[in-house]
Amino acid sequence: MSTADTLTAHSAALARGARSSRDLLDDALARIEAAEHLNAFISVDADAARSMANAADARGVAGRLGPLDGVPITLKDIFCVEGDRTTAGSRMLAQWRSPYDAHLVERLRAAGAVLLGKANMDEFAMGSSGENSAFGATLNPWSPTRVPGGSSSGSAAAVAASLVPGAIGTDTGGSIRQPAAFCGITGLKPTYGRVSRFGMIAFASSLDQAGTFTHTAEDAALLLQAIAGFDARDSTSAQEPVPDYSAALRAPIAGRTLGIAPRLLADLPAEMAGALDQVRREYEALGARCVEIDLDAALSGVSAYYVVASAEASTNLSRFDGVRFGHRCEDPADLTDLYCRSRAEGFGEEVKRRILTGTYALSVGYYDAYYRTAQRVRRLIRDEFLSAFNTVDVILAPVTPSPAFAIGENTTDPVAMYLQDVFTIPASLAGLPALSLPAGFVNGLPVGAQLIAPHFGEAVLFALAHAFQQATDHHEARPGGAH
Ligand code: GLN
Repeated sequence: MSTADTLTAHSAALARGARSSRDLLDDALARIEAAEHLNAFISVDADAARSMANAADARGVAGRLGPLDGVPITLKDIFCVEGDRTTAGSRMLAQWRSPYDAHLVERLRAAGAVLLGKANMDEFAMGSSGENSAFGATLNPWSPTRVPGGSSSGSAAAVAASLVPGAIGTDTGGSIRQPAAFCGITGLKPTYGRVSRFGMIAFASSLDQAGTFTHTAEDAALLLQAIAGFDARDSTSAQEPVPDYSAALRAPIAGRTLGIAPRLLADLPAEMAGALDQVRREYEALGARCVEIDLDAALSGVSAYYVVASAEASTNLSRFDGVRFGHRCEDPADLTDLYCRSRAEGFGEEVKRRILTGTYALSVGYYDAYYRTAQRVRRLIRDEFLSAFNTVDVILAPVTPSPAFAIGENTTDPVAMYLQDVFTIPASLAGLPALSLPAGFVNGLPVGAQLIAPHFGEAVLFALAHAFQQATDHHEARPGGAH
């Protein structure tokens, strides 16, 4: 059992003057080096991190900017950091350096966080295993033969292995919640529009949302507080005020109603259903009420998602043409050859598959059959959630159909890989906030439980997750440790 590696513990040690930021950073750098086999990072700029830590120490205990001041935080390598390499896990951007900071990076800097490393990820955030990275697969800290989940593979592995107390990821169809579940940590996908997408390399713009990886809900509240809020540079950024998330942790949960959709769980293996049932019992013991709801349209989520997400990806990725950004082929014969070979060489297999299917779904003659139909299904799913929230406060669901699968197990069958996201995609299509919390072990590997709230209901997710974590110790288990 361990809790000294939480963000809250790091922050408290700094506030007491018991540790310096440099001291915490040097420890983190040593752990990152010792865990190199996990391949959790694409790059680590130790000098830049040292100067941020030194600046935090110079401000001192009296001059602290807030709870993140001096705390090391890792970014998924999809966020632009001025002057740093930002690859999105792709050969296309392997040497690209960003000329500006993402909004979220500006916010973390303003909070005094020590930005430590760019985490490995599936190329352009497309994947559920981390195996689609041009920089090699990340390993699951709980078992080196298993995937950590994806696409935010490195961010999840870095927190699970206690290399850093917190990390930022992105979730388009499950890329925070699924790796959090596979790695036994807490992952939050906020409401669409809660955190600005400015400076976050686009995959599917109507779904992409930045969020957090931490050990606990208490830590997630601190991290979300720093990054949430309106930004005029993202036209879908929400004007909604940002509540005090840490204060919300202690809101009472007795009398809250949790919805469970039995038909969504019909094919769930018995051990996974058993783990979820334990979570339900725990909430009932805490005074919440569980009721059955229908989420039948959600069963069509995966099909609708892979049309919508691929369509948006095909247009977003058209900017990578060998002229303006990234990889350019050698000695092109003419402009068409430049486009074709730069893209053929720069993109990996899964990205090409999405561009092809997305372009197909948007083409004249197929648009109505695929794209328009998928958008209709998306609306049905959203309406179904909103009507469920007339009777329940939060929905309790699994995160994944199984614990972490073996490396290579799903690489030859893209549809099997896509079906991994069956429980996370519906909330993404509806733009809802959802949190994955550690819910025990199946076959010796961590599994998660998912809480889904109405739009901008992050505070209720934190309250429910915190109450659960006060009553249980799943979130205190660490790889290699006793649990
Ligand atoms: N696994 C899903 C996909 O491949 C989700 C990815 C994500 O959330 N970024 O599209």
